Amino acid sequence: MAVMNPPNSLGVQASPLTRQNRLPNRRQFLASSTLHALAAGTIGCRMVSSQDGEAIIDIHQHTNYSGRPDDVLLAHQRAMGITKTILLPAGRPMNSAATHEGVSNGLEAKCSGNEACYQFAWAHPGEFLFGANEVPDLPDATREIEKYLKLGAVVIGEQKFGVECDSPEMQRIYQLAADYRVPILMHWQYKRYNYGFERFYRMLKKYPRTIFIGHAQTWWANIDKNYRDDEKNLYPKGEVTPGGITDRYLSDYANMYGDLSAGSGLNSLKRDENQARDFLQRHQDKLIYGSDCNDLVGTVPGCQGAETIATLRRLAPSEKALRKLLSGNSKRIFKV
Ligand SMILES: [Zn+2]
Ligand SMILES: [Zn+2]
Repeated sequence: MAVMNPPNSLGVQASPLTRQNRLPNRRQFLASSTLHALAAGTIGCRMVSSQDGEAIIDIHQHTNYSGRPDDVLLAHQRAMGITKTILLPAGRPMNSAATHEGVSNGLEAKCSGNEACYQFAWAHPGEFLFGANEVPDLPDATREIEKYLKLGAVVIGEQKFGVECDSPEMQRIYQLAADYRVPILMHWQYKRYNYGFERFYRMLKKYPRTIFIGHAQTWWANIDKNYRDDEKNLYPKGEVTPGGITDRYLSDYANMYGDLSAGSGLNSLKRDENQARDFLQRHQDKLIYGSDCNDLVGTVPGCQGAETIATLRRLAPSEKALRKLLSGNSKRIFKV
């Protein structure tokens, strides 16, 4: 298909804006995406449809993930049967406390930033969407995030930085997410990224209009009531006792959602499949499929994202619940 150049994002001025300012931009982007998809014709349709024609939205992928080339990412997503992918950018490369003095740049996986995700989405309309992100302790973090929200970003994230979850800079980003009516996706990892999981309920209460999506090791380990945070035990195995912090956040707060991606999401399903069935039943309106895998194949064996889809098919309590997990919830939350 012909690749059209996106509007030049570099000249966009950050200005005080209202939701009304943003919507035409976002509509414009989505309308354009549809046109591009139509222009791509039947070949594109065949390539992007999953085996049985159902929609599968992947809310968690990255460009240049561990150095994976763009054409391989595209083939990987199509091999998994994904109909729409959301690309989550890194913040800009930076030496600060939030990036552990640069060690965590590129989301600690060589992932590229806002502009690369934005450009990739424009080059693959209808099939890819993009998020907006920045290192939260940079003075102009919200301005940079806002720039890409104005250009049509559908989420803020992946927020994977060494910051207190209730710090003033994070609270500014939570407020921004509410103002733009986009969710914020956070990587929870004990003593590493987003500190203070056990007191995060205060933020859930303080920002009821912000939709939070939890992801990663500490998020998933805490489905188990008996788990105690331990940076050496980030992928706990064995039986799960319901009522862990994550289970409670999902039950008690309407604005808390869970991203099923990554080895941590898959582990949470496989470690105790009987409990996983109940968990999926209980939170079928709150859990969202994502892959977050960096392999080159996109099929089982070797692709954790594909394995997560297979596991959800096996454990979902009903066909209706499975549809919610694979696309229904993300359509609602991301308005895509
Ligand atoms: Zn990720
Ligand atoms: Zn994969």
